[in-house]
Amino acid sequence: MENKRDYYEVLGVSKTATADEIKKAYRKLAIKYHPDKNPGDKAAEEKFKEAAEAYEVLSNDEKRQKYDQFGHSMGPQGFGGGGFGGGFSGGGMSMEDIFSQFGDIFGGHFEFGGGGFGGATGGRSSRRRQKPQRRGSDLRIKVKLTLEEISKGVSKTLRIPTYVKCEHCNGTGAKDGTAFTTCPTCHGTGTVSQIVQGLFGPQEAVGVCPQCDGEGKVISELCSYCNGEGIQRKDELVSFDIPAGVSEGMTLTVKGKGNAPRRGGVNGDLLVVIEEVKHPELIRDGKDVIYNLMLDVVTATLGGAVEVPTITGRARLNIPAGTQPGKVLRLRGKGLPDPQGSGIGDELVNVMVYIPEKLNDKEKEAFESLRDQPDIKPDPSTTHRLFSKLKHIFE
Ligand SMILES: [Zn+2]
Ligand SMILES: [Zn+2]
Repeated sequence: MENKRDYYEVLGVSKTATADEIKKAYRKLAIKYHPDKNPGDKAAEEKFKEAAEAYEVLSNDEKRQKYDQFGHSMGPQGFGGGGFGGGFSGGGMSMEDIFSQFGDIFGGHFEFGGGGFGGATGGRSSRRRQKPQRRGSDLRIKVKLTLEEISKGVSKTLRIPTYVKCEHCNGTGAKDGTAFTTCPTCHGTGTVSQIVQGLFGPQEAVGVCPQCDGEGKVISELCSYCNGEGIQRKDELVSFDIPAGVSEGMTLTVKGKGNAPRRGGVNGDLLVVIEEVKHPELIRDGKDVIYNLMLDVVTATLGGAVEVPTITGRARLNIPAGTQPGKVLRLRGKGLPDPQGSGIGDELVNVMVYIPEKLNDKEKEAFESLRDQPDIKPDPSTTHRLFSKLKHIFE
């Protein structure tokens, strides 16, 4: 029987540790000794497997109980079919077993794959060899829009200072885009392999070549225009459409119009942040716009037509006789479209009534003559009716 460390000791927990403590302890070790973080490190691999084996036993109530009772004296094999199960029958777990059984414990922080554990993990290693494509950074610009532009949608063409591919080296960073030489480390394959001691004897471990980053070639002479960076400053004319109905703070993404990355890859995006230019008279309220109308006392009393501003210009609005302050008149369809397509809003005209502050003699006389007329003074029932109609203003 090999000299095995105590499972509790392996995970660094007490004999009375809870399931949660055991899980946390294992997770910590698994991350620390993960083969992705320790490529080619045999000692880390052993620690990783040791922790997995300890976790396999201690995370299972039945197995933990047996282990507490018998310790390692039984050995993994000693537990037979009812005990440690297939995973240990070969005297230990393979990396594949560990990943397939406990992969979820990492919570997706690692891309799994033991590219370093070739052979048995063919699919994984081939995926690992494909290095992720470099991506340039995103650019963010603010675009000011008037209500009128927002109501119809608008196309914009802007000059944007950005990094683009260096035109002299086609973004490669190599002189004329051709000054490359075969990578001396991997001899052009983009991968390096080494023989590691596997579970069933020596195995070939394959990884991305550290010198060329998997490209198989290295630059022999730098592009002198970009100093090998593969990018250059340039003002780019970018055109994009802004749909109708957008609002302050919304961000639109123009794909691929951000910065180019160093030495080739895909561009970042251009993020367009919407800013609303305040309308001098109209207030936006979602799909609707609000206009505060100050009405003269005669028109409010006798009715008439007034002109009000709308998003698209002036509009005529009929004022019914006896219009009270606080009344809201609605101009249907004079609001903004919903960007999700759920119809067009209205313009809400909020009526206020102007009481004259200064009158000439003639006007004074006219008002004076009305003072004692029966319909001038509100009676209690009228007041009640109006207040209940206008209740919402007082709440
Ligand atoms: Zn260049
Ligand atoms: Zn290489």
